[in-house]
Amino acid sequence: MTSITCQCSWCGRQFSPRTSGGREQIYCTVTCRRAYDAAARTWVRLAIAEGYLTVADLKRVSASTRALPGSMGDGSPVIYLPGAA
Ligand SMILES: [Zn+2]
Repeated sequence: MTSITCQCSWCGRQFSPRTSGGREQIYCTVTCRRAYDAAARTWVRLAIAEGYLTVADLKRVSASTRALPGSMGDGSPVIYLPGAA
């Protein structure tokens, strides 16, 4: 039997995704998923503090991604943060 492996989107490690169903697993562990979530929250707070993003933008994107999972092609702004390039 051949097992399927994926690369963790956070740490890059190879892992075997669960086979019990649910959403596609893109992180190897809960620790990586939580690290991603924490970093994303920090990034959004910085983007809002620096004026690259507004709370209204965040609400609009959140509402549109609930309606169309995985879609960001709705004209949402492309955000560049200082030092992120
Ligand atoms: Zn990982």
